[in-house]
Amino acid sequence: MIKRVITANCDQIEPTSVKEYEQAGGLRGLKKALKMTPREIIREVKQSNLRGRGGAGYPTGSKWEQLLNIKGTPKYIVANADEGEPGTFKDKLLLEKDPLRVLEGMIIAGYVFQAKKGYLYLRGEYAFLEKLLLEALAELEEAGYLGENILKTDFSFAIEIHLGAGAYICGENSALLNSLEGKIGRPRVKPPHLAEVGLYGQPTLVNNVETFACIPTIVEQGGKKYAAWGTAASGGTKLVCLSGHIARPGVYEVPFGLTLRDLIFDLGGGPRERKIKFYHLGGQSGPCGFLHQLDTPYCYQALKEVGLSVGSGAIVVLDESVCVLDYLKQVTEFFRHESCGKCTPCREGNKQLFFLLEKLTRGEGSKEDLKLIKRLSNLLRTASFCGLGRSATRALDTCWEHLETEILAHLDKHCPAGVCFAQGGRN
Ligand code: SF4
Repeated sequence: MIKRVITANCDQIEPTSVKEYEQAGGLRGLKKALKMTPREIIREVKQSNLRGRGGAGYPTGSKWEQLLNIKGTPKYIVANADEGEPGTFKDKLLLEKDPLRVLEGMIIAGYVFQAKKGYLYLRGEYAFLEKLLLEALAELEEAGYLGENILKTDFSFAIEIHLGAGAYICGENSALLNSLEGKIGRPRVKPPHLAEVGLYGQPTLVNNVETFACIPTIVEQGGKKYAAWGTAASGGTKLVCLSGHIARPGVYEVPFGLTLRDLIFDLGGGPRERKIKFYHLGGQSGPCGFLHQLDTPYCYQALKEVGLSVGSGAIVVLDESVCVLDYLKQVTEFFRHESCGKCTPCREGNKQLFFLLEKLTRGEGSKEDLKLIKRLSNLLRTASFCGLGRSATRALDTCWEHLETEILAHLDKHCPAGVCFAQGGRN
């Protein structure tokens, strides 16, 4: 059930040792790449059916091809390590246990686009990883895999680590680039897309840490082989983060195509004490799933067909002790706090939504409030400037559809989970 491809070295080798990484098969992808043309490498990436692992799931090969076709120089390579989705901790695992694999993927990308400079934008809360990453960079440079004339070729490439300051919105690629440039981390108007006008106005590739970690294997073993580990259109493996009310939380690397039930019950050991009520997929901006959807295969297409999504790879399991309304209030509080404030629907909408949900959990809500919540959710989804606002109410919308009775019970001052009005309860 577990397929260790990009996690094969985790806890097996010294994370920053180039020697041990080479003995484990590392850097073969880069050596092979340096003998290939950029188009040959991109062909392999396209054949792998790799999709961006940060959340959006855009096909990586197509993204690379678009950038290759853009004329401007210099081009920049940026690794998005601003892993801020609650319940997501897979990039942290890769950076901590096998940083050389991630950096190798970035160097291959640098070669494809003949870039001179790459940046790894590290989440502020992961500052403790900076020292280890700097060590890994120094080791690569010492061994001739980074810096001037890599492996005695004409290709030179440097990577810089940049620390974020802890804003969730900087996980959005254009906000990340603004932050990297020293500006306020707020999203940009698109188009122009980052492939055309990215870092310092130059063509730029931004990929997630996990996406870069897949590249060395794809180049070394071939795109078709990598694709065959997954389903027809969701190539390869995925790092899944299990947390919440589950017996065995953790990061698991699995081939696409297992069902949600396989992941939650067989890998995760199922709920700890009570029955599962629902589960939250792909981070706070993702939808919630319910018991009748547990047999859905975990892959981009099948999840989309039932209104769910892979997102960041997070699966947070919530059992019957959780009040869905109380949970949604906390999700909304998160977005109220993280909204960057640039546009009114998101800045004010999340604030008002939070007040209304809080009012309901106090037993003071009315039917008019319910109507207003639906209107606000619709406004956020359709009028927000960026994906944060547009996806802030996905959990609310999916829970409303499937657990409406529990929500409506609060109008009669009844909390079916016994959370909201219990003596000593949270509200
Ligand atoms: Fe900022 Fe939210 Fe508007 Fe995005 S949707 S620009 S995070 S205020």
